[in-house]
Amino acid sequence: MTFDDYARWAASVPVPDDGHDGVLYLALALTGEAGEVCEVLKKSLRPGRSLDTERVADELGDVLWSWVRLCRALDIDPADVLAQSRAKIDEKRAR
Ligand SMILES: [Mg+2]
Repeated sequence: MTFDDYARWAASVPVPDDGHDGVLYLALALTGEAGEVCEVLKKSLRPGRSLDTERVADELGDVLWSWVRLCRALDIDPADVLAQSRAKIDEKRAR
């Protein structure tokens, strides 16, 4: 599956009607899922615990879905965001 395939699929998944074309729901989902990533990382810091990388990967997938779906809800092409991000970081690194 390519990234574009994933983005198209993500856009086809319905989200609850939040009165804002899904933008509010998806923004909250993105924040919540990022928090879940941090929660898994936090728990790995407890004595005797190790990092559950499968769980982190699962939560990162939830972050990705929320992010892609939010891009689509805002009529932003996720691939354009990736390209802009890369250009921005490359520019910073070149300084
Ligand atoms: Mg999750």
